[in-house]
Amino acid sequence: MNCCVCGAGPDNTNIHVQAAGFRLVRCRGCGMVYLPEKSVLEMQNYGKEYFTNCNEYVQRWNEFHTAFENLVGKIRRRKNDGHLLDVGTGIGSLMAVASENGFRVSGVEYSPWASDFARAEKGLEVFTGTLEEARFPGETFDVVVLNHVLEHLERPGETLREVRRILKRDGVLVIGVPNIESIMACLLGARWYSLKPGEHVWHFSPATLCRLVRETGFEVIEWESRENNRPSGGVAKRILQTAINAVAVLTNRSEAMLLFARRAPRGDS
Ligand SMILES: [Zn+2]
Repeated sequence: MNCCVCGAGPDNTNIHVQAAGFRLVRCRGCGMVYLPEKSVLEMQNYGKEYFTNCNEYVQRWNEFHTAFENLVGKIRRRKNDGHLLDVGTGIGSLMAVASENGFRVSGVEYSPWASDFARAEKGLEVFTGTLEEARFPGETFDVVVLNHVLEHLERPGETLREVRRILKRDGVLVIGVPNIESIMACLLGARWYSLKPGEHVWHFSPATLCRLVRETGFEVIEWESRENNRPSGGVAKRILQTAINAVAVLTNRSEAMLLFARRAPRGDS
C-alpha cells in the first residue's frame, strides 16, 4: 500500500515499530506512519462485538455524552448551528449531543449493526455504508465531523475530497485522530494503546494530518492535541499516566489531535 499523504511506495519506508503480529513503517517522503499490509483492512470487523464488548460504546453512552459535550462546544465556537454530518457515527453518540445543541444532524456509518442501533434506539438519521456511497448533493453541510475515523479508512484522501464536495463554502471540517507524536506514543512504542493494529491503518502526526488536509483542498484553521486516553492499571501506573498526561496537555503532545479546517478557495469552479 502506498502512503496516503505523498503517494510514495512501501519500498520508500523505514520500520517505525514492530511487535508480534504486526509492523508499522514510516514513509521517507513525508513521515507518515502506517500499516503496509493491506490485508489488515479485511481484519476490521465492526459488528455488535466491536461496539459492546471491545469498546463498550453502548454501556458508556453517558461517559461519551459528556466528552462530546466538550467537542460540540468547540465546534459551536466556529459554527453555531446548521446541518452537521458525522462520518463514522458509530451508535450515534456525537450526533445525539449535536442535536441537543441545536444542529440538524445526519450520520454515515459503515457498520450495519451500529447504524441500526442509532436509528432504532436513538431515532437518528443514519446512512449505512461509506461516505462515497451516500452520494450527498454538493455543498450540503455546514459542519462535517470525522472523529477517530480517518485512521481506519483505506483511502483517507479520497474521503476528504468527497467531504470537500459536500461541505458548504463557509463550512467547517472537524477531524479527530490519534497522535503518533504524542508523548505516550513515543514512550510506549509498540505497546501504545492507540496503535490498534487490527483497526488503525494510518498514524498521523500534526504535520502529516495538516499536509493531507491541505492537499485535499482545505485550509487548516487550527489544531490542538490536548486529549488523552483514560489512565488504567494499578494505582502507581495511573498516577504516572496522569502526570505524563498533564505534561502532554501543556506541550500539545497528547494522545489525540483535533483539527479544524475550512474549504480552500482553489478548485471551487
Ligand atoms: Zn508519504
